[in-house]
Amino acid sequence: MGSEEDPRPCGDQHFEIVFDEGPPPGRQSWDVYFMNIARQVASRGTCHRKHVGCVIVRDRIILATGYNGSIRGMPHCDEVGHMMENGHCTRTAHAEQNAIAQAARYGISVDGAEAYITASPCWVCFKIMANAGLKRIVFGEFYRDDRIFDASEHIGIELAMLDTTDELKMFVKGK
Ligand SMILES: [Zn+2]
Ligand SMILES: [Zn+2]
Repeated sequence: MGSEEDPRPCGDQHFEIVFDEGPPPGRQSWDVYFMNIARQVASRGTCHRKHVGCVIVRDRIILATGYNGSIRGMPHCDEVGHMMENGHCTRTAHAEQNAIAQAARYGISVDGAEAYITASPCWVCFKIMANAGLKRIVFGEFYRDDRIFDASEHIGIELAMLDTTDELKMFVKGK
């Protein structure tokens, strides 16, 4: 160590610190960053009646992603048609369900995590996310079930919307 044969560079003569001349370009917020990723995830959705993407994050680290798609190994809507029930296609598992299932498959806890979803969760997905321990839900657009507002208030899940204006609209502040 430290002998003349040591090939590793040492001291500070090999680099210099240089600052940009102008102000640094603005960086997008974490919320915008993860919502943009959720939009990318949504593009893989297999029911084109509505493409939805979900990204589950804890401590700014992505734990799992999901999009709406058929049961693994089963054909997709674009191959065999939609499976309509009461005006909704039920062939696919929803993005939120698939993200939680992906975490379960690899034994990853989502307790205390946040979900970024391109559309607000349906009632079934909301119940699953609440019971899986998610503490914050950010959605890109309101979808259809407003029971999520009262329930979030009641159990202390933070609920916010982040649409393409990139401005966070808070509905329920988390506890
Ligand atoms: Zn479908
Ligand atoms: Zn759902």
